[in-house]
Amino acid sequence: MRYITAKVRNLSIGHEAHPIVVQSMCNCDTNDIESAVTQCREMYRAGARLVRLTNQGKREVESLAVIKDRLTKEGIDVPLVADVHFSSDVAIAAASVADKVRINPGNFAKDHEVARSQFRKFLEECRRHGTAVRIGINHGSLGQRITEIYGNTPKGMQEAMSEWVQMCIDEDFYNVVLSLKASNVPVMTQAYILLQQWMEESGVIFPLHLGVTEAGNGDMGRIKSAAGLATLLSRGIGDTIRVSLTEPPVNEIMPARLIAEFFDTARKPSDYQTGTVDGVPSFELRCASHEEFIVKASCILGPMLVNKEIDDFNIRCIYGDKEADNAEIEQFKSDIMQATRRRMTQCEYIACPSCGRTLYDIEPVFNEVKRRTSHLRGLTIAVMGCIVNGPGEMADADYGYIGEGRGKVSIYRGKEAVVRSVPQEKAIDVLLDIIRKDGRSTDVRPLTE
Ligand code: SF4
Repeated sequence: MRYITAKVRNLSIGHEAHPIVVQSMCNCDTNDIESAVTQCREMYRAGARLVRLTNQGKREVESLAVIKDRLTKEGIDVPLVADVHFSSDVAIAAASVADKVRINPGNFAKDHEVARSQFRKFLEECRRHGTAVRIGINHGSLGQRITEIYGNTPKGMQEAMSEWVQMCIDEDFYNVVLSLKASNVPVMTQAYILLQQWMEESGVIFPLHLGVTEAGNGDMGRIKSAAGLATLLSRGIGDTIRVSLTEPPVNEIMPARLIAEFFDTARKPSDYQTGTVDGVPSFELRCASHEEFIVKASCILGPMLVNKEIDDFNIRCIYGDKEADNAEIEQFKSDIMQATRRRMTQCEYIACPSCGRTLYDIEPVFNEVKRRTSHLRGLTIAVMGCIVNGPGEMADADYGYIGEGRGKVSIYRGKEAVVRSVPQEKAIDVLLDIIRKDGRSTDVRPLTE
């Protein structure tokens, strides 16, 4: 078996590299140099060892060079990743500036042979500059070629990835990290497990970047991420992680560090088990904060729930001389059951973390959508930052609120845009109206309660 370690400037990611690398992504406009430098600095100081920025075009690539220079002058030695969608020309330009470029080569061109040829050119450019590559394929962005054969499934995700990986092997290019993200925790974990099996059969193990995409915010965003990542890390799968939250990017670092530390210290879930009551396992944790409790508890219980090893659990959390009360424990139980799709008792939300493509303040909008729809059990509602990737990335959501441009929103029902260019101040009402007319709710909450 050949184990690959990717080199991203001075950072190693892969089998022989420890600890697990924590990374995150700016959500500001990459051309807003001051904001981008500030976000990179904050994330680095909080513990991020790799930071990604959106590169929509060549202007953003030029801005990336300025940001890199500014950070280097400040002594902030954090490698930067260019996030490129669709344009192979931009990816090729970014390869001469960024330390790593994230692409989905399947999006380089509609014609598959053209995409392959552009990918080959891109790899050559990365080789010339010593730039690492992340091939990132998300559940929502599988091409028709794949979905016609495999459907929108974990197997489809693995097949879409393995073709590009095989091309890297054929081109003798190994400075590569792979990711297969989804917002649905069981889909995401299954996709990575299938990819790991495929790599083992192929005899080459590439490093994996793990993430639950569009996980949302607050407790649920943290619980979904921790449960998904822990299910893989507990099997020894995964080398670098991102916790995607619809919150300021620096907030992603602490939960990611808690997950990384949980697995780097090699403690086992059984270390936290205190016994069983009527066949239901009981666990006890000592934590310094609520965030530590929900993340650690999700690292312990997430894998057991996803793998269907347990159906229920009891848990206590002790903070110093206090104990978590019933309401906190019950909310955590409901959230992790929902996150692992073992018991769906809440409205399910998908929300992207936002990035330089987002032209509205997504966090308050997402919170307002949640406030007005949280009683709609059985529905999945997506709130996405941009029209370029939002419709694809919202995957299997029933309805979507998708930023279309400054002050304008598109409302989706499944994959179909039902209303376009809705003024933002009316968009939540329009979304709720469509849900009501569809007969999915007779009880839509008013604007103010
Ligand atoms: S959906 Fe659009 S705005 Fe949201 S993270 Fe993806 S690219 Fe950025």
